[in-house]
Amino acid sequence: MSILIEDVLHQGIETNVYIEGNTICYIGPEKKEAKTVISGQDKAIFPSLINGHTHAAMTILRGFGDDMPLQPWLETKIWPLEAKLTEEDIYWGTKLACLEMIKSGTTMFCDMYWHVHSAAKAVEEMGIRAVLSSVFLDSFDQTKASEQKKRMEILVEEFQRYSSRIRIALGPHALYTVSGETLRWIAHFAKEKELFIHFHLSETAKEVEDCIDQHGLPPVLYLDKLGFLSERLLAAHGVWLTEKEMEVLAQRKVNLIHNPTANLKLAVGKIFPYRALKERGIPCCLGTDGCASNNNLDMLEELKFAALLQKWQENDPTILPCEEAWSLATEQAAQIFRIPSGKVEVGKWADLILIDLNQPSMVPHHNIVSNLVYSAGPSVVDTVICDGRILMQDQKVPGEEEIISQAKKIANSLITR
Ligand SMILES: [Zn+2]
Repeated sequence: MSILIEDVLHQGIETNVYIEGNTICYIGPEKKEAKTVISGQDKAIFPSLINGHTHAAMTILRGFGDDMPLQPWLETKIWPLEAKLTEEDIYWGTKLACLEMIKSGTTMFCDMYWHVHSAAKAVEEMGIRAVLSSVFLDSFDQTKASEQKKRMEILVEEFQRYSSRIRIALGPHALYTVSGETLRWIAHFAKEKELFIHFHLSETAKEVEDCIDQHGLPPVLYLDKLGFLSERLLAAHGVWLTEKEMEVLAQRKVNLIHNPTANLKLAVGKIFPYRALKERGIPCCLGTDGCASNNNLDMLEELKFAALLQKWQENDPTILPCEEAWSLATEQAAQIFRIPSGKVEVGKWADLILIDLNQPSMVPHHNIVSNLVYSAGPSVVDTVICDGRILMQDQKVPGEEEIISQAKKIANSLITR
């Protein structure tokens, strides 16, 4: 399998990009012979985006319960519906999520949700990449904890059947739903099996206050005492952090995932301390969170929210400039997930997007990255390639009509069940 993208704009120069297998093999003036040739006329080539924190199948809960405080929202809207979710719901919900991600230029996401095999099947079929974790919570119950541990051990084995685009991770939900002893086991198991741990950290003031009440320490220091913090940890949110906690996160090389839209929508009361984290060298990337609290999976929109929020918070328009924001969702994210993508460069994976430079929000072309971060929406994404395979061309994804119609059917049946 080989692809040539000819006459495409790359870093201000019209060039040709040649892909063999799943790798970018050549960028330059030569038009190498390839099985598939794509015209790059009036298009620019970029790495595809990486969504660091999602609950993909929650697409089918989109718009069901908005504008509510976190706890009643979870208790009266989300949890009762989630209790009724079947494997089929998750499958079509994840297909819809993957479709939305492909259409907005994302080819890799890091997920935490229920029925993880159904999610894996959907990802496999859609052709993108995912780090999938099954929600792991013991609700401080010993019996539940041992069941979950056993289930995790089995899942890790079972996931070997999937392609290399899919990786399993551990998904302890948060410190208010998982016991300290279980978190300790998870850290140990993750190290032994070389797995990521996907976790919600310090999202709300209540979480921090409760932790201090129960353990006499704020979350990060408590987790450190348990031996839970390491470079394997992917911690979503991290908005309520003290200076001391940031020092410890840096020492333990923890990765943080910023979810600006979800934080704003759920009014978590603080803004991600990007400058302080960056100064300490803490790796950061961006995520959308689930569709019930965002309400989309559009990383282009997330980039804009992230950049604007930091400027507002720091009262400084120079912080998180567009190139740096772009890097958070591409190169820096690829480093966190330890994959050779996030850059259009020879030797990197062919995880790429072609941007239509004639879309109104992309004109004029003074600064294309600025257009992508501050101006563009999903409609500018013309072509998406992942793992050397074309997933979308001329904005068309094969099978999209069926996904839309099944997702509508599933969502309607879910609320009347
Ligand atoms: Zn989340």
